[in-house]
Amino acid sequence: MTVTVRFAPSPTGRIHIGNARTALFNWLFAINNKGRFIQRFDDTDIARSKQEYADSILYDLHWLGIFPDVTEYQSRRFDIYDAAVERLKAARVLYACYETPEELDLRRKVRRTRGLPPVYGREALTLTPEQVAEYQSDGRKPHWRFLLPNFTSDPLQPERTDVHWSDLVRGEETVDLASLSDPVLVREDGTYLYTLPSVVDDIEMGVSHVIRGDDHVTNTGVQIAIFKALGAEPPVFGHHNLLTTTTGEGLSKRTGALSIESLRQDGIEPMAVASLAVLVGTSENVTAAHDLNELASHFDPAATSKSASKFDPDELLVLNRALMHHMSFEDARDRLMVLGISGDKAEAFWLAVRGNLDRLSDAVAWWRILSEGPQEPAEFSGEDRDFLHQAFELLPEEPWNGTVWKDWTGKIREATGRKGKPLFMPLRLALTGRTSGPELSDLLPLMGREGTLARRP
Ligand code: GLU
Repeated sequence: MTVTVRFAPSPTGRIHIGNARTALFNWLFAINNKGRFIQRFDDTDIARSKQEYADSILYDLHWLGIFPDVTEYQSRRFDIYDAAVERLKAARVLYACYETPEELDLRRKVRRTRGLPPVYGREALTLTPEQVAEYQSDGRKPHWRFLLPNFTSDPLQPERTDVHWSDLVRGEETVDLASLSDPVLVREDGTYLYTLPSVVDDIEMGVSHVIRGDDHVTNTGVQIAIFKALGAEPPVFGHHNLLTTTTGEGLSKRTGALSIESLRQDGIEPMAVASLAVLVGTSENVTAAHDLNELASHFDPAATSKSASKFDPDELLVLNRALMHHMSFEDARDRLMVLGISGDKAEAFWLAVRGNLDRLSDAVAWWRILSEGPQEPAEFSGEDRDFLHQAFELLPEEPWNGTVWKDWTGKIREATGRKGKPLFMPLRLALTGRTSGPELSDLLPLMGREGTLARRP
């Protein structure tokens, strides 16, 4: 059996780091099992779904390094769901209901006061043909509920019915079908809720493993029953914990909080996002993986915590820095070129500055400092000015070799008696305008003798 997974967001907004976690869990699972990855857009809600969101989701996935084998849209598959509805009706497990939301609400309250669980009491099953005819003549349209298999012979007498599965993330899981209402699969206006199309597609598309957020655990009990009603073997399920903000709020596509787009615009590397999205809330150390294959080797769904994990964007910057520090010139070259950093000094420049960058775009400021001089010339005391004057006089003639910085500062030390910070800080300030930054021994050769002398205060 080929392992087949799917990522199935509704295209109703831009995806955030929590959605990316689901996509990445599936993608890494596919990598580790040489499987297929289906991108499926759950866009049965035509009013809220937008192609531009689907496109943006694909863009974000590509940016993260996820390249689906196929892309499917549920909105193009209604006839397949219609056929499944007919099968369920023929099997008498999909039944028409005519209650309004207000009536249902009232019933729930009555059940509560009687100490009964607030689930749907299947009153629609007791309607006489006359009552149904009356509803229809009143113009009421039915919605359709799936009859959960939680009874022996009388659906009005539900009994505890445990559905078990072995969850890839959570281990043994159980849902009691008697604790749930028969789910509505089709609304009054004929539109589909998510539940049925998802099962139909998982069957049709040969999905072997459904990996999704743990907000779907209860759905899984219901959906396993629907798989069986449609004569199919349910897939393996895995429910990962959800991510929250540092203050514990859930993430939402609507608010745009921690959207992949905003992180990209903030200069965060895809592998910083992917590494944290996958490893936060697992027993693995959170370090930045170089690529998704490497991340896959650290990925074990069973090592994921069962409770929600807080996602701290500051940790992204820590991972980003680590990625910058090790990024080869090869990997950085094209992106540097786009930023105007190219030419025969570009590689040496990159190797000199990468250890000081939070983001790749920070390289621009250093490139400017090196090509144009300090952006804001530093102020010096008279004493430091004299010291620098003397120091610049001692700058070795070209050609320079790899020890020029050491040679120069050696001479300065000898001539002025200064050493340590009083020697290096004025030089750093004069050369770069900053109090910290890359090793001056690496920067000096990039400035050249003329460029260095031009920085004399
Ligand atoms: N469209 C559903 C969601 O975004 C998919 C859940 C699933 O993976 O089955 O929550």
